[in-house]
This record gives sequence, C-alpha cells and structure tokens, in this order.
Amino acid sequence: MKFNKVLENIKTYEAGKPIELVVREFGIAPEEVVKLASNENPIGTNPAVAEVIRKNADKAHLYPDDSMFELKEALGKKFNVDDDNIIIGAGSDQVLEFISRALLDEESSVLMSQVTFAMYEIYAKQMGATIVRTSSYQHKVDEFIAAYKEHKPKIIYLCTPNNPTGDATSKEDVLAIINAVDKETLVVVDGAYMEYAAAKDEKYCIEPKDILEFENVIYLGTFSKAYGLGGMRVGYGIAQVNLIKELYKMRPPFNISTLSLAAAIEACKDDVFVEESIMLHQEQIKRYEAFAKEQGFTYIESYTNFITYLFDEGMDSTKIADALLKRGVIIRNLASYGMNAMRITIGTAKQNDVFFKHFSEVIA
Ligand SMILES: *Cc1c(COP(=O)(O)O)cnc(C)c1O
Repeated sequence: MKFNKVLENIKTYEAGKPIELVVREFGIAPEEVVKLASNENPIGTNPAVAEVIRKNADKAHLYPDDSMFELKEALGKKFNVDDDNIIIGAGSDQVLEFISRALLDEESSVLMSQVTFAMYEIYAKQMGATIVRTSSYQHKVDEFIAAYKEHKPKIIYLCTPNNPTGDATSKEDVLAIINAVDKETLVVVDGAYMEYAAAKDEKYCIEPKDILEFENVIYLGTFSKAYGLGGMRVGYGIAQVNLIKELYKMRPPFNISTLSLAAAIEACKDDVFVEESIMLHQEQIKRYEAFAKEQGFTYIESYTNFITYLFDEGMDSTKIADALLKRGVIIRNLASYGMNAMRITIGTAKQNDVFFKHFSEVIA
C-alpha cells in the first residue's frame, strides 16, 4: 500500500511512558512507580470534578452538547471574552491540528524555536509544510523576526512557557514579535503552562485579552496541566470571530465527550484547586533547584510545572533516564531534542523524595 508521501518524514510522537509499561517490563509494583514525565498535576484529580464525572456517567447514551455553551460561558467569564471567540478541542492539541489543516499546504512553512513542543512539527508535516527553526531554544525576538522576514512562514508558534525547556518569553517580547509580522502570518501563543508563569512573575503573564485585538493571533490553553485533567482531553483556542469561524470548519462533531465537558465546566468553578496546585509546585521546585546546585549541574529557570536539568559531557541523559526507568522512576529524556538534558515534572513531596533518592544513587 502506498501512503501519502508526507508521512515519509514524520516521526511518531513519543508520549511519556505509562506506569503500566514499567510494571510490565521491570516487574515493579504500580504503587512504587513514580511518573514525573508528562507534566500532569501530581495532586491528582480535583475531588469535586471527579464527583461530577461520576454523576454524569448515566448520560453516556446521549451525544454531548455540541454547542458547548456552558463551557464557553465559563471560559468567557474567566478570560473576559465572548463565546464566539472560543473553540474547544480534545486537548489544545486538537486545536493545533485544526490550525494546521486550515492554513497549511506543501507551499507553506512554519516557524518555531529550536527546541519546542513536538506536535507543531508533526501537524505541519502532515500538511506537507516546511519546518523552520530559530537557532536558540529560547524565543529570541531578533531571531524570530529575522527568520520571519526570510521565510514568510504561514504560522509562527510561540510556546510560552516553553515545553520541554521550561523557560518563558515575556509579554513584551511576544508582542514585539506579533507587531513585526503582517496579517498573512498566524501567530499561535501556546499558553499550556501559563498559570504557572503568571503566578511566578506577571511580566510573563499573557492573557487571551492581550492578543484579541490582533486578527492574526490565537491563544491556546488547556485543562491538562494546572487543572489536572490530562485524561479528559479538553483545551481551547481564543481568537477573533473570523478566525474561530474558519477553524470550526475543521472540527468533527461532538469532539468533546459528555464527561469531559462536565469535568471542564466544574474545574472552571474551582480556582482554589489550581492555586493550591501551584503553591505546592512552587515549594517543591525549590528542592530541584537546590539539588542541581549541590550536584554541580545547571538547570533552566522554570516557569512551568517541570524543570529541565542540563548535563555536561560527564553525564549522559539517556543512560540516566534508562537507569531511572529500571528503578521505576519515569522522567523525560531530551536526547531526541538534541539536548543532553532531562525534563522532570515536579511531583508531590513524597514523589520527589523517591526521585532524589534514586537519582542520587544513579549519578553516584
Ligand atoms: C501539554 C501541552 C499541550 C496540549 O496538551 P493537551 O493535553 O492536548 O491539551 C499543548 N502545548 C504544550 C506546549 C503542552 O505542553
């Protein structure tokens, strides 16, 4: 069988390894496995949200509300935008896919930072588009503007805070890039970790309202990280009405399940859960910074719920990640991004204890 030729140079997305795999492969009891690989909320599911999911279980025979009125209303209130400025996706990943399909073809190029969210490239390649990257892993304004002028990309991806590096781009810098491009280029501001950046330093806080005056910018957010709903698959895009209308043409019907909709609506009502998650995180991440300093390696200042440790030649991220995995500790090796580095989701105090114990032994 001959597949579409664009598939030839697509590498399948490699998700963080699931706990079940470590249990199967290394015979470790599931309760012993510590997964700090997918930037999930370590506190768990908000109990109020779990209750709503259970309550909605007997509505499984009905199609969900395809207008997603209640969720859009809740998001609209939260961000001070109208419901027709919002599109909901099965994760913000699905909104990224809509964007790619709505704009790209074989003639297009897309621009992104050297090291950033892997799905931008995959969705763009599915459409046959060319990938252009800046030379730094940080989002540097001058590099983005120079590459924009040279390549005139159809889409520019600004991931802030950035995954998998954890650094953030200031609102001032994001607006400088937006102001330098013309209306033929869409700028995607991916704020999957924005709640963490906003709590740490307001210079890095970008709200959907900040970009809504631009017809060629879309803001993306998700319930998967600070809201602790990775398993429910709900994300959103916020932009001017005309752009949202076009993206809607790409949306399959009922793309968000009844349970996921109910969960996200309930999650919007509970700011305390998110605040507590961020507080735990801010306390625990200090241990990771101190540990790196003690051990004499560097890390990237983090504005997210994870930290990226950078190693020199004396340490090999692949060997370390493999050794940790055998001990039931799952983290993200960044070798496939061309970095001798690893990304660790900040866990609960107890999970972090286990991580430090094994990590100390592995690098000793
Ligand atoms: C996690 C993540 C997303 C999307 O996650 P969904 O679960 O699909 O909402 C988007 N962008 C970045 C940078 C992420 O880390």
